[in-house]
Amino acid sequence: MRPIVYRVASRFECQTRQAKAFGGDLKARLERWQRQLELWVSWEQELPRILQEAASSTEPKYEKGVVSSYYFTDFVASSFRVMHKLGVPDIFLALLQQYELPAEARPKIEEAARYFAKTGVRNPRTLKTAIPAYRKTLAYYQELHGVVEKIVSSGQSRGTEDNGASVLSAGPFKVVNTGGFDADTMRTTVEVVKRATHLLAAKGLSKVCYGDILMSQQIAKSNVLAFYRGDADEMFIRADLKGHEMEAVEVVVHELAHRLHRQFLKTKDRQISLMYGKIKRGRKGQEEAAIEEIKSDPRNWPKIGDEIQHPKTKHRYVVSAFDDSDKLVTIRLVDDQRGFSVVDLWPILQWQGHKLPHVSASTFVTSYAGTKPSENFAEMIRFYCLDKLPDDQVKMLVPILA
Ligand SMILES: [Zn+2]
Repeated sequence: MRPIVYRVASRFECQTRQAKAFGGDLKARLERWQRQLELWVSWEQELPRILQEAASSTEPKYEKGVVSSYYFTDFVASSFRVMHKLGVPDIFLALLQQYELPAEARPKIEEAARYFAKTGVRNPRTLKTAIPAYRKTLAYYQELHGVVEKIVSSGQSRGTEDNGASVLSAGPFKVVNTGGFDADTMRTTVEVVKRATHLLAAKGLSKVCYGDILMSQQIAKSNVLAFYRGDADEMFIRADLKGHEMEAVEVVVHELAHRLHRQFLKTKDRQISLMYGKIKRGRKGQEEAAIEEIKSDPRNWPKIGDEIQHPKTKHRYVVSAFDDSDKLVTIRLVDDQRGFSVVDLWPILQWQGHKLPHVSASTFVTSYAGTKPSENFAEMIRFYCLDKLPDDQVKMLVPILA
């Protein structure tokens, strides 16, 4: 009976991209936090001395163990680091995941989780501004401590994954309720996941449909409906999808395309990049690629002694050499033994009637697809599943999926 928290990551984990189990002994952490607050509060009584020193001397003294002006000017940033060392940020994540939060406490806890998800905070510039900043920051930590203590002492811990209520099947997926979402919200999510599963299965891609889909309130940025974490191979989905179901289905397909790429097609990285490059170069690039393909096929290579007629001038030439690495043909007029010219293979093939295959050059399916090969791949899969991928791109994509 492991609590869900130990197996899933929350939306804040998405933001900070750290994988770890939250919580630990909350009461012990709260106590250490309390002792630290008391120490910081005690600095207040040193302030008159420090202000006097600051006014009288130009060089502040730094003595080990003695509270100095630096303690205050560095307070915002260093206390932030101390809170991290004490494991305080994890407490907010643990509460969000493990506790039924009172309605009035939830926004405070969410805000705190966001605050501590930052990589660092800035100090004020002067002692004059540092003192109110110290007081304000300390008051904030004290207020949070009070809120947390109240939840931990009286709050209700949420269910575990094994009680059945938090996990629903959605075809081959399990949708995991990580945030105490109601049955209606769960149903919407399950429906979205099922529809995405159908779209992928119809294209023979059901292999990406496995494991858990973790429901979160909000993921990374507010406009993100679903999110795939490649390093952990985990899927997240937003809980509030009502009204955005179809969009969400498509986003889930896109995100699972990243799983397809990372888990199944890692060996096709090069092809995926080449495909991106080909689409990026557009019609001209595709024509060049088609010509290269024709030129590299040995069945199209001339043999020495072959006779070729120029379609317009009707002059007849004979092939006297062929360089198959540079695809250069040496030709001379049939009745001229001395003069010769070296010509690229492609015009020669055109004289012989080779035509450029029809190139329909579609552009990236979305501007986001144009950002990089992996996003282009995911967007192509999305369009493929919706039967909206242009034919030329279907032809490029299908061999990669095989
Ligand atoms: Zn993506």
